[in-house]
Amino acid sequence: MKEITWYFPSNLEEVPELLKKERVLVYGGGTALLRSNLARVEGLIDLKALPLNYCREREGVIEIGAGCTYSQITEVLQKIDSHNILIRSLSGAASTPLRNRITLGGSIAFFPVWSDLMGPLLALEAEVALIGSSKGSFPLVEYLKKREIRNRSLITGIYYKKRELNSYYFRQSRTHFDYSAFSISILVKKSASLSASRIEEPAIVIVGCRNKFSKLSSLEESLKNCSPDEVQIKDITGSLEVEFAAKKNYSPDYLKHLAAVEMERALKAVLRS
Ligand SMILES: Cc1cc2nc3c(=O)[nH]c(=O)nc-3n(C[C@H](O)[C@H](O)[C@H](O)COP(=O)(O)OP(=O)(O)OC[C@H]3O[C@@H](n4cnc5c(N)ncnc54)[C@H](O)[C@@H]3O)c2cc1C
Repeated sequence: MKEITWYFPSNLEEVPELLKKERVLVYGGGTALLRSNLARVEGLIDLKALPLNYCREREGVIEIGAGCTYSQITEVLQKIDSHNILIRSLSGAASTPLRNRITLGGSIAFFPVWSDLMGPLLALEAEVALIGSSKGSFPLVEYLKKREIRNRSLITGIYYKKRELNSYYFRQSRTHFDYSAFSISILVKKSASLSASRIEEPAIVIVGCRNKFSKLSSLEESLKNCSPDEVQIKDITGSLEVEFAAKKNYSPDYLKHLAAVEMERALKAVLRS
């Protein structure tokens, strides 16, 4: 039987050299790796001894280490950023034993179409911190679009600006434990002027669509600076700028229809709350 070499770096300086090795992969929670074909893999870099297990606020910025599990993130955010959309999205993901294993870093690097992490992170405009062949921090969108940034790089964490936002998260699944067919993440800020409240900084992201994820920029534009009570929700969700591929139990047209219905419900909930 083929032997896999395990590496257990305990400080970040050791990692770049390990990332240069051929056929050696990073091991986060292992929930995706253990279901993949590891026949060609010769080594795994276990992250547990690295200082990547933090979730904290510093000068108005929330920082989360790549080694944090979904459970750890929701537990700490409840104390330091209690309205954050990630609390709702991550506590509904998978099952309790899985949430105790799935890591932030592994879920960004793997980005499954059923991810309950990526929609909220994209809506929050999170930045990803990397070491290895790419060093420094990069907008999450750039990390996702550029393979050369991702290759032989280790995600050490993410950060985003802490803001008071109204949020809404929805995942389409037939049973709680199913992978989601798509998810909707919405963030809006309502200005608190005396005369009238206005919608500021809307962010709307769908994950699970044809291009894996889509930021609905036209919908966001049509909401900007409107009064929440005046928005004609039915009109703006009628033609959603998003396409789906067929999935088990769902045709593309049906998914688009479902997404429009759920978007209407989502906007009603987040704007009229
Ligand atoms: C039955 C089941 C149901 C699930 N349901 C959901 C769900 O509903 N919602 C949801 O969001 N997720 C769900 N997941 C989790 C999801 O499918 C992935 O398994 C998970 O996101 C991978 O995270 P991990 O920490 O286990 O990564 P790993 O399996 O350790 O690694 C995944 C990939 O990322 C790389 N990697 C790991 N850490 C890093 C890092 N720090 N930097 C760079 N690369 C890295 C690895 O080399 C590998 O290529 C489910 C998983 C299972 C098994």
